[in-house]
Amino acid sequence: MDRMTPEQRHTCMSHIRGKDTAPEWVVRRMVYAMGFRYRLHVKGLPGKPDLVLPRHRKIIFVHGCFWHAHGCRPARRPPATHKRFWKEKFAKNVQRDQQALRDLWQAGWQVLVVWECETKDPGRLRALLSAFFAPSARTANYDLADQHALYGLAAETPKEYGEE
Ligand SMILES: [Zn+2]
Repeated sequence: MDRMTPEQRHTCMSHIRGKDTAPEWVVRRMVYAMGFRYRLHVKGLPGKPDLVLPRHRKIIFVHGCFWHAHGCRPARRPPATHKRFWKEKFAKNVQRDQQALRDLWQAGWQVLVVWECETKDPGRLRALLSAFFAPSARTANYDLADQHALYGLAAETPKEYGEE
């Protein structure tokens, strides 16, 4: 941990702080302001989703870019040491995320993953949530990398760890 960049350490700390991390609060506030009510961290659902809207059969995850290996730039900066350890850890996290999404889709949930970096852009976040909440939103199964394209926004696909 000592060799992390300040951003990585910050992301790491916000993960350790747990359930009420700032990115999740940003999403909660916006969802609430859009008139939707949700339940938090519903037990027994795959991946322990952050926001659950049972009546709409919709679920929102708020993923930290570092731990969930987002393809965005800050998340791609590798820690200087223990590269192999991190590579395996991130691969495992991504695999777990994908499995949770598949399980939820199969159970008939519509799932949106909001990345931490997207919570810093209110315009983009609003567009993403609006598309997700639109009655016409499609319900087919999508790979995590495709879902932003589904909602009409450019995707940043998870990259092989350390890849530019
Ligand atoms: Zn990101």
